[in-house]
Amino acid sequence: MEGMHTTLSSTGAASRRLLARLRDVMAGSGTGQDRLDKIVMLIAAEMVADVCSCYVMRAGEVLELFSTLGLNKDAVHKTRLRVGEGLVGDIAAHARPIALDNAPSHPNFAYRPETGEDPFQSLAGVPILRGGKVRGVLVIQHADRRHYTEEEVETLQTIAMIVAELVAQGELVDPQEVFSTGDAALLPARLSGVPLNAGLAMGHALVHRPQLTIRQMVADDAERELERLAGALSAMHSAIDDLLAAAALAGLGEPRDILETYRMFAEDRGWLSRIREAIHMGLTAEAAVQQVQNDTRARMSHLTDPYIRERLLDLEDLSNRLLQHLAGKRSEADGGTLPEDLVLVARSMGPAELLDYDRKRLRALILEEGSPSSHVCIVARALDIPVVQCADALTRIEPLDHLIVDGDHGAVFVRPAEDIQMAFTESMATRSRREQEYAATRSLPSVTRDGVPISIQLNCGLLIDLPHLAASGAEGIGLYRTEIPFMVRHTHPDVQQQTELYARVLDEAGDKPVLFRTLDVGGDKMLSYISAGAQENPALGWRAIRIGLDHPSLLRQQLRALLRAAAGRPLSVMFPMIAEVAEFDAARAILDLELRWLERRGAEPPSRVRVGTMIEVPSLLWQLPALLQRVDFLSVGSNDLMQYVFASDRGNPRTANRYDPLSPPMLTLLRRLVEASRDAGKPIGVCGEMAGRPLDAMTLIGLGFRSLSMAPQSVGPVKTMLRSLDVAALRKYLVQLTQGGDHSLRPKLRAFALDHGILI
Ligand code: PEP
Ligand code: MG
Repeated sequence: MEGMHTTLSSTGAASRRLLARLRDVMAGSGTGQDRLDKIVMLIAAEMVADVCSCYVMRAGEVLELFSTLGLNKDAVHKTRLRVGEGLVGDIAAHARPIALDNAPSHPNFAYRPETGEDPFQSLAGVPILRGGKVRGVLVIQHADRRHYTEEEVETLQTIAMIVAELVAQGELVDPQEVFSTGDAALLPARLSGVPLNAGLAMGHALVHRPQLTIRQMVADDAERELERLAGALSAMHSAIDDLLAAAALAGLGEPRDILETYRMFAEDRGWLSRIREAIHMGLTAEAAVQQVQNDTRARMSHLTDPYIRERLLDLEDLSNRLLQHLAGKRSEADGGTLPEDLVLVARSMGPAELLDYDRKRLRALILEEGSPSSHVCIVARALDIPVVQCADALTRIEPLDHLIVDGDHGAVFVRPAEDIQMAFTESMATRSRREQEYAATRSLPSVTRDGVPISIQLNCGLLIDLPHLAASGAEGIGLYRTEIPFMVRHTHPDVQQQTELYARVLDEAGDKPVLFRTLDVGGDKMLSYISAGAQENPALGWRAIRIGLDHPSLLRQQLRALLRAAAGRPLSVMFPMIAEVAEFDAARAILDLELRWLERRGAEPPSRVRVGTMIEVPSLLWQLPALLQRVDFLSVGSNDLMQYVFASDRGNPRTANRYDPLSPPMLTLLRRLVEASRDAGKPIGVCGEMAGRPLDAMTLIGLGFRSLSMAPQSVGPVKTMLRSLDVAALRKYLVQLTQGGDHSLRPKLRAFALDHGILI
């Protein structure tokens, strides 16, 4: 059927015909401008559009009308729109298509009289994307009001990929113009960003750009392209299997889990069938993968759900891998020309991609997109490299640029001047000297100057964390956050998988005790397969033990796995977010149920089971006598306790540091807690962040705590502090200090430490 509303058929034949014509134009003679003009004419004819226009990105984020059929030709190279200006600018700003049946009524419509576009009612436009960047915008318009179908928009997107190739050839706009950042390009620069993982590192930029140049977009023989796709998929599968085997050999438990989920994704029907569909439309296998990638990105770019964004990154990683296999190339990370000290710069990155790089050379990671809880950051943390998120990293950093990454403050110094390099070399040397000094305390007893033994434990959550146990000289694991392995997976690990994981943790810890905390999800730690729905106050919402008690099978499975993993050895378990004794009793009853189940099956039980609870919710403080009768131990989660005591969100930058744990209310509360536990003969420790900060740890010891659990990096500083501490003097000082009305006791406590030679 011909006519105004004829759509370009998605059945493939028409699409293939158009693509074949476009290919002929691309391969034909003439300047870049000539070819662009021909492409614009072709699109207008095939899509029966009154207008087809192509805008190309110029320096300074300006979109210039490069070619049009239907608008006033005199406007070509004259009409310019800033990114974000008008509908065209809007498409570029959000890198996503727009299809409107009444464009002039859209709030972003910007009328340009020189183009003569008043009579056109409908508009569909798509971004011209390449290498993850918007390089222009392709638009069609119709005089009448009409609805654009999804297929039409998809067809425009496919065509835009071909136009992207033309733009990339550099004939229309000198690539230097768009990519250079002006004269400042080679000058030193300081980029500020968001700290995602602490640390300081220096190295040379390796731009992680898995986006490959696709030489051929259009194919005649769809069957052959499908075969190439199948070949590349199977090569990719075996490469992932190799990575899995290597990760298993290296004892990297979680990366293995992550890679497993990749394999699952790689077999995802929806993803593959969309690629196959695009091949049937006439694209080469490479172009089809890229088309689906661009399309997914554009469709999901407005979604802010961290889980979905995370999946998007995984899927991008996978698409890039597939493209590499189609190109017959191995990963960029295998190249032999990598700098010795590399700082990876990437738009985004999957955890598996990070693991492709040589860990010995990897110094830091800079991401344009990412969050502290993203999988790649969890892995980077375990590898102990600083990570900074920096929105314009890829435009400001050139390959092999010398970089300093300050993960503590979220700053990146690009091509740093001599004086900055010297200052950083100095602070890195001081840092490593201090680390050596701390390392030297590893074998020294953890005893205060006046002879009080203090147990230092580690907070862990990944198998890669476990080597720190021996290296730091910590006595054991005081908090194993079991939710972290769950968070890096896409599916719920079954009892067998959990049993294996917990057994590995116990094996690696050897004689040192491990305190497992049951699943503490909810709030900011949501799992894909447990939906809490929208919660107005997630921190006060359905989380941690509340989920466990409402879904007893989850808790049962976890406890069963823990009991089985600990067969014949001691097991310590605690529950998070217990708000009342009845909740503890209910959780404990589930544990007892599982113990009986184990007994009935004749399986070997743990040699001893100790059960405790986190103290995070203040209500529990008013049930201490009843609680202390029931528990074997207590552990203070000062992070959450602080936020609930002061009604002050720990995740909100405006409130997170508004109140100080070193304040009269908190110290009074902590003292009562430690005294009540001591009177009941039940051990108590602190595993919140304050336990790892030397001045706070000093105060906790002064209050009576004898067990502190902290991140591995804190062990050296805390041990150094406590070995210089005289507890008796501090205890007396603290009693009078907490009577006053200070907002924070930090300055006074710091002065005390300095006066008494305590190394904080
Ligand atoms: C705490 O709340 O102090 C704690 C240790 O738990 P998390 O930080 O995992 O919430
Ligand atoms: Mg907590």
